[in-house]
Amino acid sequence: MKLSRLRAIPSVDKVLQALGDTGLPRPIVLDLVRRELQVLRTRKTIPDLEAVVARIRAVVFDVRTSRIQPVINGTGILVHTNFGRAPLGMDVIAAMSAVASNYSNLEYSLTRGARGGRAAYLEQGLAVLCGAEAATVVNNNAAALVLILRHFCRAAVNEVVISRGELVQIGGGFRIPDVLESSGAKLREVGTTNQTSLEDYARVITRRTALILKVHRSNFFMDGFVSSPLTEDIAALARKTRKRRIVFVEDLGSGAMFDTATVAGLEHEPTPAEVLGHGVSLVCFSGDKLLGGPQAGIIAGSRTLVAALKHEPLFRALRCDKLILSALEATVDAYLRGESGVAILEMLRVTNEDLRVRAERMIAALDGLPLAARVGTGPAQVGGGTLPRSVIPSLTVDLVHRTLKPQELATRLREQAIPLIGYIARGTLKLDLRTIFPRQDQDVLTAIRAASTL
Ligand SMILES: *Cc1c(COP(=O)(O)O)cnc(C)c1O
Repeated sequence: MKLSRLRAIPSVDKVLQALGDTGLPRPIVLDLVRRELQVLRTRKTIPDLEAVVARIRAVVFDVRTSRIQPVINGTGILVHTNFGRAPLGMDVIAAMSAVASNYSNLEYSLTRGARGGRAAYLEQGLAVLCGAEAATVVNNNAAALVLILRHFCRAAVNEVVISRGELVQIGGGFRIPDVLESSGAKLREVGTTNQTSLEDYARVITRRTALILKVHRSNFFMDGFVSSPLTEDIAALARKTRKRRIVFVEDLGSGAMFDTATVAGLEHEPTPAEVLGHGVSLVCFSGDKLLGGPQAGIIAGSRTLVAALKHEPLFRALRCDKLILSALEATVDAYLRGESGVAILEMLRVTNEDLRVRAERMIAALDGLPLAARVGTGPAQVGGGTLPRSVIPSLTVDLVHRTLKPQELATRLREQAIPLIGYIARGTLKLDLRTIFPRQDQDVLTAIRAASTL
Protein backbone atom coordinates (compact mmCIF):
# COMPACT_ATOMS: atom_id res chain seq x y z
CA MET A 1 0.00 0.00 0.00
CA LYS A 2 1.44 3.34 -1.07
CA LEU A 3 0.88 6.20 1.33
CA SER A 4 1.09 9.86 0.48
CA ARG A 5 0.35 13.06 2.32
CA LEU A 6 -0.32 14.80 -0.93
CA ARG A 7 -2.68 12.37 -2.54
CA ALA A 8 -6.26 13.66 -2.83
CA ILE A 9 -9.11 11.76 -1.28
CA PRO A 10 -10.95 9.92 -4.06
CA SER A 11 -14.39 11.17 -4.99
CA VAL A 12 -17.51 9.31 -3.88
CA ASP A 13 -18.39 8.62 -7.52
CA LYS A 14 -15.01 7.18 -8.28
CA VAL A 15 -15.19 4.82 -5.32
CA LEU A 16 -18.76 3.78 -6.17
CA GLN A 17 -17.71 3.01 -9.70
CA ALA A 18 -14.74 0.98 -8.56
CA LEU A 19 -16.92 -0.98 -6.13
CA GLY A 20 -19.34 -2.09 -8.84
CA ASP A 21 -22.43 -4.06 -7.85
CA THR A 22 -22.28 -4.83 -4.14
CA GLY A 23 -25.63 -6.56 -3.71
CA LEU A 24 -26.69 -3.85 -1.26
CA PRO A 25 -29.17 -1.01 -1.87
CA ARG A 26 -27.35 2.01 -3.31
CA PRO A 27 -28.22 4.43 -0.47
CA ILE A 28 -26.57 2.07 2.01
CA VAL A 29 -23.42 1.77 -0.08
CA LEU A 30 -23.38 5.54 -0.55
CA ASP A 31 -23.64 6.02 3.19
CA LEU A 32 -20.80 3.56 3.86
CA VAL A 33 -18.56 5.20 1.28
CA ARG A 34 -19.20 8.68 2.70
CA ARG A 35 -18.44 7.52 6.22
CA GLU A 36 -15.21 5.83 5.17
CA LEU A 37 -14.06 8.86 3.18
CA GLN A 38 -14.90 11.04 6.16
CA VAL A 39 -12.56 8.91 8.27
CA LEU A 40 -9.83 9.35 5.66
CA ARG A 41 -10.14 13.13 5.93
CA THR A 42 -8.90 12.94 9.49
CA ARG A 43 -5.79 11.01 8.43
CA LYS A 44 -2.40 12.50 7.79
CA THR A 45 -1.71 10.10 4.94
CA ILE A 46 -4.10 8.92 2.27
CA PRO A 47 -3.81 5.42 0.79
CA ASP A 48 -4.19 4.98 -2.97
CA LEU A 49 -7.56 4.37 -4.61
CA GLU A 50 -7.06 0.62 -4.73
CA ALA A 51 -6.43 0.43 -0.99
CA VAL A 52 -9.37 2.71 -0.23
CA VAL A 53 -11.68 0.58 -2.35
CA ALA A 54 -10.39 -2.65 -0.81
CA ARG A 55 -11.08 -1.30 2.65
CA ILE A 56 -14.58 -0.19 1.71
CA ARG A 57 -15.24 -3.50 0.01
CA ALA A 58 -14.45 -5.25 3.29
CA VAL A 59 -16.86 -2.95 5.14
CA VAL A 60 -19.55 -3.59 2.52
CA PHE A 61 -19.00 -7.34 2.87
CA ASP A 62 -19.37 -7.07 6.63
CA VAL A 63 -22.58 -5.09 6.34
CA ARG A 64 -23.98 -7.43 3.71
CA THR A 65 -23.35 -10.55 5.77
CA SER A 66 -24.99 -8.93 8.79
CA ARG A 67 -28.32 -8.93 6.99
CA ILE A 68 -30.64 -11.59 8.46
CA GLN A 69 -30.37 -14.66 6.26
CA PRO A 70 -30.77 -18.40 6.59
CA VAL A 71 -27.78 -20.36 7.85
CA ILE A 72 -27.28 -24.10 8.03
CA ASN A 73 -26.89 -25.18 11.64
CA GLY A 74 -24.38 -27.97 11.94
CA THR A 75 -23.69 -27.35 15.62
CA GLY A 76 -26.13 -29.93 16.95
CA ILE A 77 -27.64 -27.27 19.21
CA LEU A 78 -31.36 -27.47 18.48
CA VAL A 79 -32.60 -24.26 20.09
CA HIS A 80 -29.62 -22.09 19.19
CA THR A 81 -30.23 -18.60 20.56
CA ASN A 82 -27.75 -17.00 18.15
CA PHE A 83 -29.43 -18.75 15.22
CA GLY A 84 -32.95 -17.61 16.07
CA ARG A 85 -33.97 -20.40 18.46
CA ALA A 86 -36.67 -22.72 17.08
CA PRO A 87 -37.07 -23.00 13.31
CA LEU A 88 -40.71 -23.30 12.26
CA GLY A 89 -42.22 -26.22 10.38
CA MET A 90 -43.45 -25.80 6.82
CA ASP A 91 -47.14 -26.04 7.77
CA VAL A 92 -46.64 -23.32 10.35
CA ILE A 93 -44.97 -21.12 7.75
CA ALA A 94 -47.82 -21.78 5.31
CA ALA A 95 -50.39 -20.68 7.90
CA MET A 96 -48.36 -17.59 8.72
CA SER A 97 -47.78 -16.72 5.10
CA ALA A 98 -51.51 -16.94 4.24
CA VAL A 99 -52.32 -14.57 7.08
CA ALA A 100 -49.44 -12.26 6.18
CA SER A 101 -50.35 -11.75 2.55
CA ASN A 102 -54.09 -11.32 3.06
CA TYR A 103 -56.51 -9.54 5.32
CA SER A 104 -57.56 -11.75 8.21
CA ASN A 105 -60.18 -12.05 10.94
CA LEU A 106 -57.59 -11.00 13.52
CA GLU A 107 -60.14 -9.02 15.55
CA TYR A 108 -63.32 -9.76 13.66
CA SER A 109 -66.07 -12.25 14.38
CA LEU A 110 -67.18 -13.90 11.17
CA THR A 111 -70.35 -15.21 12.83
CA ARG A 112 -71.47 -11.83 14.12
CA GLY A 113 -70.03 -9.69 11.37
CA ALA A 114 -68.56 -7.36 13.98
CA ARG A 115 -65.46 -6.74 16.02
CA GLY A 116 -64.32 -9.94 17.72
CA GLY A 117 -61.75 -11.11 20.24
CA ARG A 118 -58.09 -11.23 19.32
CA ALA A 119 -56.36 -14.63 19.56
CA ALA A 120 -59.41 -16.34 21.09
CA TYR A 121 -58.82 -19.66 19.32
CA LEU A 122 -55.12 -19.63 20.19
CA GLU A 123 -55.81 -18.88 23.85
CA GLN A 124 -58.26 -21.76 24.01
CA GLY A 125 -55.80 -24.14 22.34
CA LEU A 126 -53.02 -23.09 24.71
CA ALA A 127 -55.31 -23.60 27.70
CA VAL A 128 -56.16 -27.13 26.51
CA LEU A 129 -52.50 -27.91 25.86
CA CYS A 130 -51.48 -26.65 29.31
CA GLY A 131 -54.44 -28.22 31.11
CA ALA A 132 -55.23 -24.69 32.32
CA GLU A 133 -58.46 -22.77 32.88
CA ALA A 134 -57.15 -20.02 30.63
CA ALA A 135 -54.08 -18.82 28.78
CA THR A 136 -52.81 -15.81 26.91
CA VAL A 137 -49.75 -14.71 25.06
CA VAL A 138 -47.35 -11.75 24.90
CA ASN A 139 -44.12 -10.94 23.07
CA ASN A 140 -41.75 -13.19 24.96
CA ASN A 141 -41.33 -14.81 28.32
CA ALA A 142 -39.45 -11.80 29.69
CA ALA A 143 -42.50 -9.68 28.82
CA ALA A 144 -44.78 -12.25 30.46
CA LEU A 145 -42.77 -11.97 33.64
CA VAL A 146 -42.78 -8.16 33.59
CA LEU A 147 -46.54 -8.10 32.99
CA ILE A 148 -47.17 -10.47 35.89
CA LEU A 149 -44.94 -8.51 38.26
CA ARG A 150 -46.38 -5.14 37.27
CA HIS A 151 -49.90 -6.38 37.73
CA PHE A 152 -49.56 -8.08 41.07
CA CYS A 153 -47.13 -5.69 42.74
CA ARG A 154 -48.97 -2.66 44.11
CA ALA A 155 -47.64 0.15 46.29
CA ALA A 156 -48.25 -1.46 49.68
CA VAL A 157 -48.30 -5.04 48.47
CA ASN A 158 -45.19 -5.36 46.37
CA GLU A 159 -42.95 -8.02 47.82
CA VAL A 160 -41.99 -10.96 45.67
CA VAL A 161 -40.72 -13.96 47.55
CA ILE A 162 -38.05 -15.93 45.70
CA SER A 163 -35.43 -18.47 46.69
CA ARG A 164 -31.79 -17.35 46.55
CA GLY A 165 -31.13 -20.44 44.46
CA GLU A 166 -33.37 -19.01 41.72
CA LEU A 167 -32.01 -15.48 41.33
CA VAL A 168 -30.69 -16.43 37.95
CA GLN A 169 -29.47 -14.79 34.82
CA ILE A 170 -30.87 -15.94 31.53
CA GLY A 171 -29.04 -15.27 28.25
CA GLY A 172 -28.76 -11.72 26.91
CA GLY A 173 -28.21 -10.09 30.28
CA PHE A 174 -31.73 -10.83 31.55
CA ARG A 175 -31.37 -11.07 35.33
CA ILE A 176 -34.34 -12.08 37.42
CA PRO A 177 -33.55 -9.69 40.32
CA ASP A 178 -33.16 -6.73 37.93
CA VAL A 179 -36.42 -7.53 36.16
CA LEU A 180 -38.16 -7.75 39.51
CA GLU A 181 -36.88 -4.42 40.69
CA SER A 182 -37.51 -2.59 37.44
CA SER A 183 -41.10 -3.84 37.59
CA GLY A 184 -41.66 -2.13 40.92
CA ALA A 185 -41.38 -5.33 42.90
CA LYS A 186 -39.44 -5.59 46.12
CA LEU A 187 -37.27 -8.64 46.25
CA ARG A 188 -37.74 -10.86 49.29
CA GLU A 189 -34.96 -13.41 49.02
CA VAL A 190 -35.29 -16.57 51.05
CA GLY A 191 -33.02 -19.51 51.84
CA THR A 192 -29.51 -19.88 50.51
CA THR A 193 -28.07 -20.70 47.12
CA ASN A 194 -28.33 -24.42 47.67
CA GLN A 195 -30.90 -24.83 50.44
CA THR A 196 -34.35 -23.32 50.74
CA SER A 197 -37.06 -24.78 52.96
CA LEU A 198 -40.80 -24.27 53.17
CA GLU A 199 -40.26 -22.52 56.52
CA ASP A 200 -37.99 -20.03 54.77
CA TYR A 201 -40.90 -19.08 52.53
CA ALA A 202 -43.47 -19.12 55.37
CA ARG A 203 -41.35 -16.86 57.57
CA VAL A 204 -41.27 -13.88 55.20
CA ILE A 205 -44.88 -13.88 54.08
CA THR A 206 -46.66 -10.76 55.35
CA ARG A 207 -49.45 -8.42 54.30
CA ARG A 208 -46.99 -6.89 51.89
CA THR A 209 -46.37 -10.13 50.00
CA ALA A 210 -47.64 -9.83 46.44
CA LEU A 211 -46.54 -13.15 45.10
CA ILE A 212 -44.25 -16.12 45.39
CA LEU A 213 -42.11 -16.62 42.33
CA LYS A 214 -40.42 -19.86 41.42
CA VAL A 215 -37.96 -19.73 38.55
CA HIS A 216 -37.10 -23.00 36.92
CA ARG A 217 -33.35 -23.56 36.82
CA SER A 218 -33.53 -23.95 33.10
CA ASN A 219 -30.01 -23.08 32.02
CA PHE A 220 -27.89 -24.53 34.82
CA PHE A 221 -28.02 -27.29 37.37
CA MET A 222 -26.98 -27.68 40.95
CA ASP A 223 -25.80 -30.88 42.44
CA GLY A 224 -24.71 -32.05 45.87
CA PHE A 225 -26.17 -30.60 49.06
CA VAL A 226 -29.20 -29.08 47.36
CA SER A 227 -32.82 -28.96 48.36
CA SER A 228 -35.90 -26.86 47.85
CA PRO A 229 -39.53 -27.48 48.82
CA LEU A 230 -41.93 -29.27 46.50
CA THR A 231 -44.05 -27.05 44.27
CA GLU A 232 -47.16 -28.63 45.85
CA ASP A 233 -46.05 -27.51 49.30
CA ILE A 234 -45.31 -23.96 48.25
CA ALA A 235 -48.71 -23.90 46.51
CA ALA A 236 -50.43 -25.05 49.70
CA LEU A 237 -48.60 -22.36 51.65
CA ALA A 238 -49.66 -19.69 49.13
CA ARG A 239 -53.28 -20.83 49.37
CA LYS A 240 -53.72 -20.84 53.10
CA THR A 241 -51.74 -17.81 54.14
CA ARG A 242 -53.54 -15.26 56.36
CA LYS A 243 -56.96 -16.03 54.90
CA ARG A 244 -55.92 -14.49 51.62
CA ARG A 245 -54.54 -16.31 48.69
CA ILE A 246 -51.10 -15.29 47.54
CA VAL A 247 -50.42 -15.63 43.86
CA PHE A 248 -47.88 -18.34 43.14
CA VAL A 249 -46.14 -18.00 39.79
CA GLU A 250 -43.66 -20.33 38.18
CA ASP A 251 -41.41 -19.16 35.35
CA LEU A 252 -40.71 -22.41 33.56
CA GLY A 253 -38.46 -20.91 30.93
CA SER A 254 -38.78 -23.55 28.30
CA GLY A 255 -42.27 -24.99 28.19
CA ALA A 256 -41.86 -28.56 27.03
CA MET A 257 -45.25 -29.98 26.09
CA PHE A 258 -44.19 -33.60 26.09
CA ASP A 259 -42.22 -35.82 28.43
CA THR A 260 -38.66 -34.97 27.40
CA ALA A 261 -37.39 -38.07 29.22
CA THR A 262 -38.85 -40.18 26.37
CA VAL A 263 -36.07 -38.81 24.13
CA ALA A 264 -32.80 -40.74 24.52
CA GLY A 265 -30.34 -38.59 26.46
CA LEU A 266 -32.81 -36.04 27.80
CA GLU A 267 -33.83 -35.54 31.41
CA HIS A 268 -37.34 -34.81 32.47
CA GLU A 269 -38.34 -31.17 32.08
CA PRO A 270 -41.49 -30.12 33.97
CA THR A 271 -44.38 -29.32 31.64
CA PRO A 272 -46.79 -26.40 32.18
CA ALA A 273 -49.62 -28.90 32.79
CA GLU A 274 -47.57 -30.67 35.46
CA VAL A 275 -46.70 -27.45 37.25
CA LEU A 276 -50.30 -26.20 37.17
CA GLY A 277 -51.39 -29.61 38.44
CA HIS A 278 -49.14 -29.01 41.45
CA GLY A 279 -51.15 -25.94 42.35
CA VAL A 280 -49.24 -23.05 40.79
CA SER A 281 -51.64 -20.14 40.04
CA LEU A 282 -49.86 -19.05 36.87
CA VAL A 283 -47.09 -20.48 34.77
CA CYS A 284 -45.15 -18.63 32.07
CA PHE A 285 -42.76 -19.90 29.41
CA SER A 286 -41.26 -19.11 25.99
CA GLY A 287 -42.88 -19.97 22.69
CA ASP A 288 -39.62 -20.49 20.82
CA LYS A 289 -37.66 -22.81 23.06
CA LEU A 290 -38.78 -26.43 23.47
CA LEU A 291 -42.32 -25.65 22.37
CA GLY A 292 -40.78 -25.02 18.95
CA GLY A 293 -42.98 -22.09 17.93
CA PRO A 294 -42.31 -18.42 17.21
CA GLN A 295 -40.97 -15.95 19.78
CA ALA A 296 -43.73 -15.51 22.35
CA GLY A 297 -44.36 -15.58 26.07
CA ILE A 298 -47.21 -17.79 27.17
CA ILE A 299 -49.07 -17.34 30.43
CA ALA A 300 -51.44 -20.07 31.59
CA GLY A 301 -53.40 -20.77 34.74
CA SER A 302 -56.31 -19.34 36.72
CA ARG A 303 -59.09 -17.85 34.61
CA THR A 304 -59.50 -14.81 36.88
CA LEU A 305 -55.80 -14.03 36.96
CA VAL A 306 -55.31 -14.41 33.21
CA ALA A 307 -58.35 -12.17 32.60
CA ALA A 308 -56.94 -9.58 35.00
CA LEU A 309 -53.57 -9.61 33.22
CA LYS A 310 -55.30 -9.00 29.90
CA HIS A 311 -56.92 -5.89 31.36
CA GLU A 312 -53.59 -4.48 32.47
CA PRO A 313 -52.73 -1.43 30.26
CA LEU A 314 -49.22 -2.83 29.78
CA PHE A 315 -50.72 -5.90 28.09
CA ARG A 316 -51.52 -3.77 25.04
CA ALA A 317 -47.88 -2.78 24.72
CA LEU A 318 -46.68 -6.36 24.95
CA ARG A 319 -49.15 -8.03 22.63
CA CYS A 320 -48.06 -10.18 19.67
CA ASP A 321 -48.70 -9.30 16.07
CA LYS A 322 -50.85 -11.37 13.69
CA LEU A 323 -47.91 -13.24 12.15
CA ILE A 324 -46.76 -14.53 15.51
CA LEU A 325 -50.32 -15.33 16.54
CA SER A 326 -50.93 -17.37 13.40
CA ALA A 327 -47.60 -19.20 13.69
CA LEU A 328 -48.21 -20.00 17.34
CA GLU A 329 -51.76 -21.07 16.59
CA ALA A 330 -50.53 -23.49 13.91
CA THR A 331 -47.85 -24.81 16.30
CA VAL A 332 -50.36 -25.39 19.09
CA ASP A 333 -52.73 -27.06 16.61
CA ALA A 334 -49.91 -29.37 15.53
CA TYR A 335 -49.44 -30.45 19.15
CA LEU A 336 -53.14 -30.97 19.73
CA ARG A 337 -53.40 -33.03 16.55
CA GLY A 338 -50.44 -35.25 17.45
CA GLU A 339 -47.17 -33.34 17.13
CA SER A 340 -46.11 -33.62 13.49
CA GLY A 341 -45.11 -30.31 11.97
CA VAL A 342 -43.04 -29.00 14.88
CA ALA A 343 -39.49 -28.88 13.54
CA ILE A 344 -37.79 -29.08 16.95
CA LEU A 345 -39.71 -32.23 17.87
CA GLU A 346 -38.82 -33.88 14.60
CA MET A 347 -35.13 -33.17 15.20
CA LEU A 348 -35.36 -34.61 18.69
CA ARG A 349 -37.00 -37.77 17.44
CA VAL A 350 -34.92 -38.53 14.35
CA THR A 351 -32.88 -41.69 14.87
CA ASN A 352 -29.13 -42.03 14.42
CA GLU A 353 -29.79 -44.79 11.86
CA ASP A 354 -31.58 -42.20 9.71
CA LEU A 355 -28.74 -39.75 10.22
CA ARG A 356 -26.19 -42.40 9.28
CA VAL A 357 -27.89 -43.06 5.94
CA ARG A 358 -27.73 -39.33 5.17
CA ALA A 359 -24.14 -39.01 6.40
CA GLU A 360 -22.92 -41.89 4.23
CA ARG A 361 -24.71 -40.55 1.19
CA MET A 362 -23.13 -37.13 1.72
CA ILE A 363 -19.66 -38.53 2.30
CA ALA A 364 -19.89 -40.54 -0.92
CA ALA A 365 -20.80 -37.34 -2.76
CA LEU A 366 -17.69 -35.58 -1.41
CA ASP A 367 -15.36 -38.03 -3.11
CA GLY A 368 -12.52 -36.37 -5.01
CA LEU A 369 -12.24 -33.27 -2.83
CA PRO A 370 -9.00 -32.43 -1.01
CA LEU A 371 -10.39 -33.55 2.32
CA ALA A 372 -11.06 -36.64 4.37
CA ALA A 373 -14.73 -37.07 5.26
CA ARG A 374 -16.11 -39.70 7.58
CA VAL A 375 -19.05 -40.43 9.83
CA GLY A 376 -18.47 -39.34 13.41
CA THR A 377 -20.43 -38.99 16.59
CA GLY A 378 -21.11 -35.97 18.72
CA PRO A 379 -23.26 -34.62 21.50
CA ALA A 380 -26.34 -32.77 20.27
CA GLN A 381 -27.99 -30.49 22.81
CA VAL A 382 -31.34 -28.83 23.23
CA GLY A 383 -29.64 -25.46 23.89
CA GLY A 384 -31.36 -22.11 24.29
CA GLY A 385 -30.77 -22.37 28.01
CA THR A 386 -32.73 -25.58 28.44
CA LEU A 387 -31.78 -29.00 29.75
CA PRO A 388 -28.13 -28.01 30.28
CA ARG A 389 -27.20 -31.44 31.60
CA SER A 390 -28.77 -33.40 28.77
CA VAL A 391 -26.88 -34.63 25.75
CA ILE A 392 -28.44 -36.39 22.77
CA PRO A 393 -26.03 -38.87 21.18
CA SER A 394 -25.93 -37.73 17.57
CA LEU A 395 -24.18 -38.31 14.28
CA THR A 396 -21.81 -36.00 12.44
CA VAL A 397 -20.02 -35.62 9.14
CA ASP A 398 -16.37 -35.08 10.11
CA LEU A 399 -14.11 -33.13 7.78
CA VAL A 400 -10.34 -32.86 7.80
CA HIS A 401 -8.94 -30.78 4.97
CA ARG A 402 -5.57 -31.63 3.46
CA THR A 403 -4.18 -28.12 3.69
CA LEU A 404 -6.70 -25.89 5.44
CA LYS A 405 -6.70 -25.78 9.22
CA PRO A 406 -10.08 -26.59 10.79
CA GLN A 407 -10.52 -22.91 11.71
CA GLU A 408 -9.82 -21.86 8.12
CA LEU A 409 -12.28 -24.40 6.77
CA ALA A 410 -14.86 -23.19 9.29
CA THR A 411 -14.37 -19.59 8.15
CA ARG A 412 -14.75 -20.55 4.51
CA LEU A 413 -17.91 -22.53 5.22
CA ARG A 414 -19.37 -19.49 6.97
CA GLU A 415 -18.63 -17.37 3.90
CA GLN A 416 -20.70 -19.50 1.51
CA ALA A 417 -23.91 -18.32 -0.19
CA ILE A 418 -25.81 -20.26 2.45
CA PRO A 419 -23.45 -20.08 5.44
CA LEU A 420 -22.74 -23.46 7.01
CA ILE A 421 -21.74 -23.49 10.66
CA GLY A 422 -20.28 -26.50 12.39
CA TYR A 423 -17.97 -26.96 15.33
CA ILE A 424 -14.40 -28.08 15.85
CA ALA A 425 -13.42 -30.95 18.09
CA ARG A 426 -9.99 -32.54 18.24
CA GLY A 427 -8.76 -31.00 15.01
CA THR A 428 -11.85 -32.02 13.05
CA LEU A 429 -14.59 -29.84 11.67
CA LYS A 430 -17.83 -31.55 12.61
CA LEU A 431 -21.31 -31.08 11.16
CA ASP A 432 -24.07 -32.54 13.31
CA LEU A 433 -26.79 -33.79 10.97
CA ARG A 434 -29.50 -33.63 13.62
CA THR A 435 -29.82 -29.88 13.24
CA ILE A 436 -29.42 -29.93 9.46
CA PHE A 437 -32.71 -30.47 7.64
CA PRO A 438 -32.60 -33.29 5.06
CA ARG A 439 -33.72 -30.71 2.49
CA GLN A 440 -30.45 -28.85 3.17
CA ASP A 441 -28.14 -31.79 2.41
CA GLN A 442 -27.52 -30.61 -1.17
CA ASP A 443 -26.69 -27.10 0.08
CA VAL A 444 -24.27 -28.59 2.59
CA LEU A 445 -22.48 -30.45 -0.19
CA THR A 446 -22.35 -27.31 -2.33
CA ALA A 447 -20.89 -25.33 0.57
CA ILE A 448 -18.26 -27.97 1.37
CA ARG A 449 -17.24 -28.24 -2.28
CA ALA A 450 -16.89 -24.48 -2.68
CA ALA A 451 -15.07 -24.03 0.63
CA SER A 452 -12.60 -26.86 0.21
CA THR A 453 -11.47 -26.23 -3.34
CA LEU A 454 -8.66 -23.74 -3.25
C1 LIG B 1 -35.45 -18.14 28.48
C2 LIG B 1 -35.99 -17.79 29.79
C3 LIG B 1 -36.64 -16.56 29.98
C4 LIG B 1 -36.74 -15.52 28.91
O1 LIG B 1 -37.61 -15.93 27.91
P1 LIG B 1 -37.70 -15.10 26.55
O2 LIG B 1 -38.83 -15.76 25.82
O3 LIG B 1 -36.40 -15.22 25.88
O4 LIG B 1 -38.01 -13.69 26.91
C5 LIG B 1 -37.15 -16.28 31.23
N1 LIG B 1 -37.03 -17.17 32.24
C6 LIG B 1 -36.42 -18.37 32.09
C7 LIG B 1 -36.31 -19.29 33.27
C8 LIG B 1 -35.87 -18.72 30.86
O5 LIG B 1 -35.25 -19.89 30.70
